[in-house]
Amino acid sequence: MSMTPYRGRFAPSPTGPLHPGSLLAALGSWLLARHAGGQWWVRVEDVDPPRTVPGAIDQQLACLTALGLASDGLIVRQSQRDALYQRALERLLDEGTAFACHCSRSELADQHGIHHHCVARGLRAQPAIRLRVPPGTRIAFHDGLRGPVEQDVHADVGDFVLRRADGYWAYQLAVVVDDGQQGITDVVRGADLLDSTPRQILLQRALGLPTPAYLHLPLLLDAHGRKLSKSDAARPLDPAEPLPALRQAWAALGQDPAVVRDAAGVTPLLADARAGFDPARLPAHDIAPPATPG
Ligand code: GLU
Repeated sequence: MSMTPYRGRFAPSPTGPLHPGSLLAALGSWLLARHAGGQWWVRVEDVDPPRTVPGAIDQQLACLTALGLASDGLIVRQSQRDALYQRALERLLDEGTAFACHCSRSELADQHGIHHHCVARGLRAQPAIRLRVPPGTRIAFHDGLRGPVEQDVHADVGDFVLRRADGYWAYQLAVVVDDGQQGITDVVRGADLLDSTPRQILLQRALGLPTPAYLHLPLLLDAHGRKLSKSDAARPLDPAEPLPALRQAWAALGQDPAVVRDAAGVTPLLADARAGFDPARLPAHDIAPPATPG
């Protein structure tokens, strides 16, 4: 049995306001952390400046505060952690696991965007840096909700980007370095990231970092049965109305609505939720919206 105390996290990208889909990941990861008697940390994933929306970080953090979901650790921002990512990248370059790549998106189009060898016809001022993924690289892991998951990372993904040609860090590198550096033992997040997990496990192995346990929560569907993705203009949460939002997320997580029906404030509601949470009720499939909006 592992002696490492549970440490979970919620790592939103500030690409817009928090919406019910992000609250599902926030509340789900918080409940699982509390159920395990563990910690829950918030991390700001502002690693992609072109996609960062001004004001979104403050809005998201204010919204989490209104929802009573407070980070147990210092809230770090990826935009301030270049040195950590640089160190990891240099290690991979030194070991020959990572390489500079001058291929452009259009040059890789013939390979469906999958990089197996360089086809660049010219040199760029600043190449991308990719992780080499040799043939036969298969990664298997156990998802806490879905069970065994396996991916042929070479065939399905190929050599993937660690630092982009525009100089920005790739999400895959930043998330692995941060989960490792912050001692995250359990990653609970939306199923839209399920196919990133094998890449992250590969990177953890290349960097000598432990692999956390993973659980990917189902995604919320919109009224048309489509997945509510972060990038969709999903309805923002209203920080002035935290109780209906929490009750809705609780129900979407498959939990008994009666547990949180009577609480008159955020603190008592979260206390009831924590006491009444049953991980066995978490749904394994994507979640349709309630028939009557709450
Ligand atoms: N920043 C990512 C997002 O907003 C989440 C990353 C993660 O949980 O690993 O979807």
